[in-house]
Amino acid sequence: MIKTTQHGGTMKLNQNGLLIVLSGPSGVGKGTVRRALFDIKGHNLTYSISMTTRKPREGEVDGEDYYFVSKEEFEQRIKEGKFLEYAEFVGNYYGTPIDKVEDSIKAGKEVVLEIEVEGAKQVKKKKEDAVFIFIAPPSFLALKERLHRRGTEAPEIINERLEKAKRELRLINDYDYIVINDSVDNAANRIMAIIRAEHARTKRSGEGYIELLEETNNE
Ligand code: 5GP
Repeated sequence: MIKTTQHGGTMKLNQNGLLIVLSGPSGVGKGTVRRALFDIKGHNLTYSISMTTRKPREGEVDGEDYYFVSKEEFEQRIKEGKFLEYAEFVGNYYGTPIDKVEDSIKAGKEVVLEIEVEGAKQVKKKKEDAVFIFIAPPSFLALKERLHRRGTEAPEIINERLEKAKRELRLINDYDYIVINDSVDNAANRIMAIIRAEHARTKRSGEGYIELLEETNNE
């Protein structure tokens, strides 16, 4: 439903919030870019906290970074259809709990998912209206260096992640936008610009605007 509100002297069209999918290879800096995006003042973004069977890294907080659960609990939730999408990534499950996503969108919030590419594919099948943004490394070498510098994984896991990243980079054409993570702030600002532009798309606001004109015409 589209409502209108008086906003800064101009009429603003309110609608369901957008679902924004940030994806891209592991180690590209999705998490860092997402945090910088959330630091931009005046946003109306909600981060969808994922569930995982991975063990928490040092400093990670349950219910903030992820919901950390056992494999059994995760598989039970799969059976119950409680994920918008889920994927197995380097030996662990990761998934997006569906209930909060749906509620937040209905409440007009912008919901941001930060997920790997298999999950993004599933979201694309279910939510064609979502905005798909591929965060890409400036080069493959940059990605390799980043994964090593992060130092959170054993060398064999890093190699596994790199091989996966090579395959993932080929999926770029399935996305609406590509944002190269040359600098975190630039990348975050470009994503914010995309979100604003998406709101102005006629497919999202055009009908509402015509309704609004007709209503005010009858007053
Ligand atoms: P990490 O173990 O480094 O936190 O995450 C590994 C990968 O899983 C990253 O690419 C991250 O974006 C992705 N990921 C995190 N949450 C989800 C999720 O809910 N679903 C999917 N499909 N991927 C996720």
